[in-house]
Amino acid sequence: MKAAGEADTAKRSGEASGTKARQERGDGILRAEAALPEDSRDFALRPSRLDEFLGQKAMKENLAVFIAAAKERGESLDHLFLTGPPGLGKTTMARIVANEMGVDFTETSAPALEKAKDLVGILTSLKPNAVFFIDEIHRLRPEIEEKLYIAMEDYELDFVIGQGPGARTMRLPLKPFTLAGATTKAGMVSSPLISRFGISCRFSLYGSADIEAIIRRSAAILGVRIDDAAAALLSTSSRFTPRVTNRLLRRMRDYAQVEKLPSITLGVVRSGLERLEIDGLGLERLDREILRMIIERYGGGPVGAETLAISVGESVDTLEDFYEPYLIQAGLLQRTQRGRMVTELAYKHLRLQVKPPSGVLSGGLFPES
Ligand code: ADP
Repeated sequence: MKAAGEADTAKRSGEASGTKARQERGDGILRAEAALPEDSRDFALRPSRLDEFLGQKAMKENLAVFIAAAKERGESLDHLFLTGPPGLGKTTMARIVANEMGVDFTETSAPALEKAKDLVGILTSLKPNAVFFIDEIHRLRPEIEEKLYIAMEDYELDFVIGQGPGARTMRLPLKPFTLAGATTKAGMVSSPLISRFGISCRFSLYGSADIEAIIRRSAAILGVRIDDAAAALLSTSSRFTPRVTNRLLRRMRDYAQVEKLPSITLGVVRSGLERLEIDGLGLERLDREILRMIIERYGGGPVGAETLAISVGESVDTLEDFYEPYLIQAGLLQRTQRGRMVTELAYKHLRLQVKPPSGVLSGGLFPES
């Protein structure tokens, strides 16, 4: 399975301007659509104002103040650093900021910025105070990152004209802009870059009440009714992640529609989740395979991320960004200095008879399922 974050990134990288980025566009969108057909048509579900964005309360309150103050001064908003697992709303929030500021929004991803001229092309065409979103900012090439430092600090760009001995460096003035840099790996962003962001937005997994509110909002937009018990079960199966919530809701709508039901019922969600191989804790087949692998092949752990990723046939990035945050939050897995270890709850959840080795970590957030 391809992680949602990867697919979306492929799609978004296609939005970049510049020749190379344009070449990537077709490829990126195709790959994204193959993995997640709905996402590219899913703008209707994306909140476009701060008050439509559910959850992440403290972050929203702070942003509302910073946006109001910047607007009052007629300035661009300070640069925004957005971190957290995929599907939690980093791109959505960057778009909302642009909407609330009443400015343009331009997006790309770090891997799409291959040459300095790709960056120069985008920065010089930004409208005043525009929000420029770079996804996967931890993957910037060093020479591009250095150009960004000056652009972020002084709204200027160093630009080399000509080649060889006749080459000259020129400083191009830029219009003020807000760089919104998003990453799932804050630890891989260099400190000189981090220090140039004035506002930091750390996204955490959503609570069940927020996810239920998102289900209701999305259901209303999609024009489908959902029973209370069905919404509650769907929320506990959504990995605390709005993107997953919306994807599951659309699938449940399909099942209800085919069965000619007037609303999504608890029965529809129960059988739908079963058909999608999603269990009572919201684990997908690969989540269970990861836990089973650690238990059966590595005696419960510790096992290094690379070894584990190879064992389950996924990339380390996908393992770390998409699968692990939820497994950790659900109390099934722990990251230790020596590697990944399952908790006692994982044994119970998988109903494995293997006796946990003495070093196994105990504890978890959920009662035995
Ligand atoms: P990220 O950039 O962090 O990977 P996105 O911003 O692309 O995540 O969000 C994925 C989808 O989840 C969006 O299309 C949007 O529909 C939905 N979404 C994210 N956050 C929220 C939220 N707080 N409220 C409602 N929907 C949300």
